[in-house]
Amino acid sequence: MKKILIAVSTFLMFSAASCQTSTNTKTINSTPGTTMNSDFNKTDEEWKKILTEDQYYVLRQKGTEPAYQGKYTMNFEKGMYTCAGCGYELFTSDQKFESHCGWPSFDNEIGGGERVKKIKDVSHGMIRTEIICARCGGHLGHIFDDGPTKTGQRYCVNSLSINFKPEKDAGKTK
Ligand SMILES: [Zn+2]
Repeated sequence: MKKILIAVSTFLMFSAASCQTSTNTKTINSTPGTTMNSDFNKTDEEWKKILTEDQYYVLRQKGTEPAYQGKYTMNFEKGMYTCAGCGYELFTSDQKFESHCGWPSFDNEIGGGERVKKIKDVSHGMIRTEIICARCGGHLGHIFDDGPTKTGQRYCVNSLSINFKPEKDAGKTK
């Protein structure tokens, strides 16, 4: 009888352990990756339905909004900036600074550099580095290495490419 009990409890312990292992594996797999997610790999027609005409022009056709016209250029409220195409959290208000260039500027991005993809851009007779959302491929703006803060970087982003979530609203989405 005792032997059976030991066998049963050993079996239970083993199943509990293996259950935990599989849960851990799941958590690791669900971490956002660096590859483009197929859920956000939409056709032009699909993007047109989701985005405004101006957002479509900037995000999908790599347009640029006029300087000082964007709604977030002079926004210095506390909060989070997300991709206007897919909602990916890209920048925080702590990374934003006044660059006097006419567009919202950030000196860094959230995470370890996997959320904003950098691409060499030789259009308009200039050599620049374009920045896009790593999840949906939406055009954000350009990055320059003349930033005044310790990172030395200036992510020059169109207001139309991002949405702002004020910190006071952050608890409501949970
Ligand atoms: Zn995106």
